[in-house]
Amino acid sequence: ARAKLDDPALLKSTAYVDGTWITTPGTLPVHNPSTGELLATVPLLDRAQTADAVQAADRALPGWRARPAKERSRLLRRWFDLVTEHAADLARLIVLEEGKPYAEALGEVAYAASFLEWFAEEAKRIRGDVMEAPEASRRIVVLKEPVGVVAAITPWNFPAAMITRKAGPALAAGCTMVLKPAEQTPLTALALAVLAERAGIPVGVFNVVTGDPREIGPELTGNPLVRKVTFTGSTEVGRLLLAQSAQTVKKTSMELGGNAPVLVFDDADLDEAVEGVIATKYRNTGQACISANRVYVQDGVHDAFAEKLAAKVAALAVGDGFDEGVQQGPLIDEDAVAKVEAHVADAVAHGAVVMQGGKRHARGGLFYEPTVLAGVTAEAVITREETFGPVTPLVRFTDEQEAVRMANDTEFGLAAYLFAKDAERIWRVGAALVAGMVGINTGLISNEIAPFGGVKQSGLGREGSVYGLDEYLELKYLAWEGA
Ligand code: ADP
Repeated sequence: ARAKLDDPALLKSTAYVDGTWITTPGTLPVHNPSTGELLATVPLLDRAQTADAVQAADRALPGWRARPAKERSRLLRRWFDLVTEHAADLARLIVLEEGKPYAEALGEVAYAASFLEWFAEEAKRIRGDVMEAPEASRRIVVLKEPVGVVAAITPWNFPAAMITRKAGPALAAGCTMVLKPAEQTPLTALALAVLAERAGIPVGVFNVVTGDPREIGPELTGNPLVRKVTFTGSTEVGRLLLAQSAQTVKKTSMELGGNAPVLVFDDADLDEAVEGVIATKYRNTGQACISANRVYVQDGVHDAFAEKLAAKVAALAVGDGFDEGVQQGPLIDEDAVAKVEAHVADAVAHGAVVMQGGKRHARGGLFYEPTVLAGVTAEAVITREETFGPVTPLVRFTDEQEAVRMANDTEFGLAAYLFAKDAERIWRVGAALVAGMVGINTGLISNEIAPFGGVKQSGLGREGSVYGLDEYLELKYLAWEGA
C-alpha cells in the first residue's frame, strides 16, 4: 500500500517528445529489483524517433532562449514546486524501480528538487562583461549565450537527481534538452516530464526518449543539431560518447566512475569516522560514484575503528525499500551482485579477512550482506575497480605519505575523504589528494551549492553550483568599433 501513488497520472508508459506522449510497437520492461516484479513497460524509440526529438528540441530553441531569464526562472521554480509537492510519489517510483530505502528516496527527491530551485535563481544572474579595448574607438562586449540543443544521458542509481542536475542548468541557460534516462529507471524520468509539462515548460524544451542506448546513443552523439552532450555513468561509456561526439565537435560534460579512497588517521574522531564511512559507503547500498571504495586506516586506530565499523554495519537493516526501518536495499541487477561477489572472493584470495557479511543475503534475489573486509592488500582488485556494492575493504597503513600515495594510485579522481583533527595534516593531505572533491570529517559532500565533478578519468566539467551553469553557456565576443 505504501507503494501506491497519490497521483496515478505520474506513472507513465509513454515517452515525451515535442509535448506529445508517444508509444512504439516494441517496449522495454521495467522491473522492481527488490521483488523482480514487472512494474511497467516503456517505449523503445528507434533512431528516427530520436532524431525527431532532437528536431523538436531544435525547433523549441529560438523561442526558449529568447524568453527573458526571469520567465525561464519562474517556470523552473514552478517545476521545483511541483516536484516538492509530489515528493512522496516520486520517492515511491524511485523505490520501485531502483530499490533504495524510501527515506533515502525522499532525500534524493529533495536533492533533485534543489537543483531546479538553485538554477531557477541562477538563471537571472547570467551576465557578460564589457571591457576596455586596446583602441579608444572600440569596446569589447562579451555575451553569454546558450550552447543550444543538449543531449543528456543519465544513470539508474539516482533516477531523479542526475536528471535535474542537468536539466536545471540547461533550461536556465536557455538550452533545450533531449534526455535519455537509464533503461532500468525510466519511470522517475517520465514522472519528472509530467511535472515539467504541468509547470508550463513549453513544448519541445524538455523531451524524454526511452529505449536501447545503442539505438538512441549514436543519434544523440551524431546529430549535428545537438551541440552538447552531458553524461553521467561509467568511464567506459563516457569514453565512447566522447569519441562519438568528436565527429561533430560537441561540447561535453562527463561525470564518470570513481574509486574513492578514505583516509582515517590516528588523530581522527573514531565515531565521526565510522559515521562518515557508513554514510558514504552504504548509502544506496554502495551504488554511488562517490561511495568509499577503499578505506585506509592508520595503525594506532586501525583495530578500534574496524571493530566499531563492523558492529555498525552488522546492525544495518536489509530489506525492501518500503519496509519500515530498512537501510539497505537490493542491488540493481544480477551482474551487480556477481561483481560484488567476485570482488570479495578476490580480496579473500589475496589474504583479506571477512569481519562482517561477505556473502549473498539470506533473502535471496539481489540482496547482498553489508560487508566489512580487513587486511585487504594492494593486489586485490577491490582497491582498483569500483565495486558499486555494500563492501568496505580496510587497508592498514603507518605512514601518511604512503597512505596518500596509495590513495592517488588510480586512474580515477572523483571523491576522496579524510578523517583527522590536526589542521596542518588536513591542509597537507587535502592538498595532496588528487580528486575533484574531498570530504573532511564527513561522508556527505553533495549539495546543489557545491561544484560536483572529477579529475583524471572521472570526468570533465562540474555540475551544480555557480560553475555548473557555464557548462551550458558559450561566450560570444562583440568587437564594437565606434562604440
Ligand atoms: P551503469 O554501469 O551505471 O549502468 P552505464 O555507463 O552503462 O553505467 O550507463 C549509464 C547510462 O549510459 C545509461 O543511461 C545507459 O543507458 C547509457 N548507455 C550505456 N551504453 C551506452 C551507449 N553505448 N551509448 C549511449 N548511452 C549508453
